[in-house]
Amino acid sequence: MSDVFNNELFEAFAAASDNVYIYVCDMKTDISRWSKAGVDYFGLEGEYLKDAANVWARHIHPDDLVVYTEDITGVFSGKKKYHDCQYRARNASGTYVWVECKGSVIRDAEGNPIIFAGLMTRIDGQSKYDSLTGLLTTQEMHYFDFASQSGIALLIGMDGFRKIISNYGYNTGDEILIKFSREISGLCNPGWKVLRFSGDEFLVLAFGSDLQEVTDFYEKICGEADILKLEDGRKVGISISAGGVLFPQDADSREVLINKLEHSLEYAKNNRRGSLVFFSEEIAAKHERGLVLREDLKQSIKNDFKGFELFFQPFINPDVGTIAGCECLLRWKGERIKDSYPMEFIKVLEDYGDINEVGFWVMEQAIRQQAAWRDIYGELQVSFNVSYQQLLDETFEERAISCAEKYGVNPKYIIIELTESCQVEAPKELAAMFGRLREHGFKIALDDFGTAYASMEMLKWLPVDYIKVEHSFIRELAQPGHDVDYVIVDSLLEMCRRLGYHSIIEGVEDGKVADIVGDLNATLLQGYHYSRPVCRKDFERLLDEDRELCEGHSK
Ligand code: C2E
Ligand code: CA
Repeated sequence: MSDVFNNELFEAFAAASDNVYIYVCDMKTDISRWSKAGVDYFGLEGEYLKDAANVWARHIHPDDLVVYTEDITGVFSGKKKYHDCQYRARNASGTYVWVECKGSVIRDAEGNPIIFAGLMTRIDGQSKYDSLTGLLTTQEMHYFDFASQSGIALLIGMDGFRKIISNYGYNTGDEILIKFSREISGLCNPGWKVLRFSGDEFLVLAFGSDLQEVTDFYEKICGEADILKLEDGRKVGISISAGGVLFPQDADSREVLINKLEHSLEYAKNNRRGSLVFFSEEIAAKHERGLVLREDLKQSIKNDFKGFELFFQPFINPDVGTIAGCECLLRWKGERIKDSYPMEFIKVLEDYGDINEVGFWVMEQAIRQQAAWRDIYGELQVSFNVSYQQLLDETFEERAISCAEKYGVNPKYIIIELTESCQVEAPKELAAMFGRLREHGFKIALDDFGTAYASMEMLKWLPVDYIKVEHSFIRELAQPGHDVDYVIVDSLLEMCRRLGYHSIIEGVEDGKVADIVGDLNATLLQGYHYSRPVCRKDFERLLDEDRELCEGHSK
């Protein structure tokens, strides 16, 4: 047997790692030796193999075979200097795992290959510990038996971790993850396990715990997360949410446990941010609805936006009490789900990256509608809503301009409403685009104004035309004890006037509120008191009534 196999160096290297395997092939005899750990892990016949290339090829995932074969033939033919390729290989338990295979050929004086040697590294996250935090990886989940042990699993996720990274940078992001993982580990009871689940999600397996213990633990974690102290003394506050699942009651296998944990965390993040939410049937139903909603929405989009419709809610001119225009509000009915409100389906569209396509459809319908009405009722001020994501689409500006041209609409009758709650990441670019759209005549409105400090901040750098005062200040204006709301609204409108902005008061729900806001000198009014959002036909009926009223007056 060749000397290359029988040296102590081979033994020493082979024993050095559980994850990295070595192989040496005597190319004259076509016999190779593999390290023992590799033989065991992949279930090879033995340390010494004849025709190893073919034996090994049978372990490679069929989809990756071409990549492997091309690379290895390149090396043997001398076209490639090193074998270096990643593919999936079947291990002893029949599972395909990702490996990185590197090797090189040693040749004799005539250039004939004599030895091929290299390393095979498992890169599929099979390593026991996470390299950043030092916590166990999810691979360890395989070793727990959730059917026979009882306890509670918590999946803890950071809220808005991407925002943290964009505020503090990647390095600080890593530091926060490390620090946070230490805090979690430090607060665990003996016997509990902490695993890094994914980027900013941590899994706590609280074996033998009860609800009270776990709830107390979560509260302590929240407290620590509020004031994480970094190495350089800086303090960073992060908010977290968590999903909880009891095992074995609610999950007696790894797959079910992970599934339910993910649904519970998703529910907590969307509905009860900051809280620990335990899995329930309601969460399962909500998740199921979300999936159906997503499929139905995709189907509608594919089907030429079948099921989508615009409703229109009038803007009232407070001086004369007639309709000056309308806000276009999206409605949707799916094949299976017929009762979804915009708050729900727009979020799904945003989450799954479909909002732009739908948003551009809304833009076109709104502008087309303005043109259609103009010929019958005269110019109306028509607004539509845009999500921040849509504004980031490079084609937004050009599409708005060309759409107005296509329907012969003067852009000054189009208002683009930007929801205030969005987190603006590229303020300069956005301000520049708004500036250019305004030069074309488009009007820009800041929606839901007044709900956050960000409103004022945005006014400083964003060129806009209209401010829409948030519902919540208006709705209860007529209720006793709401003088503060009145002062806030009055001051906001005064600020608008001084800064030269128009204002729209929305959420005028009844006559009493209408009387109060009537004295505030807003540019336009909107709310259920005048009309709920209605379909095109009903809106046209309102316009007809208005027209008849005006004609009556002028007689
Ligand atoms: P928003 O832009 O703040 O729209 C106003 C919402 O207030 C509408 O809800 C409207 O029906 C409701 N509303 C109107 N008057 C009153 C009132 O007097 N009292 C009360 N309580 N509510 C009133 P809607 O139609 O359910 O829309 C909800 C949100 O969905 C909108 O809030 C907007 O942010 C979003 N949205 C609607 N259509 C679109 C769209 O085409 N694109 C995008 N990106 N978002 C849209
Ligand atoms: Ca709006």
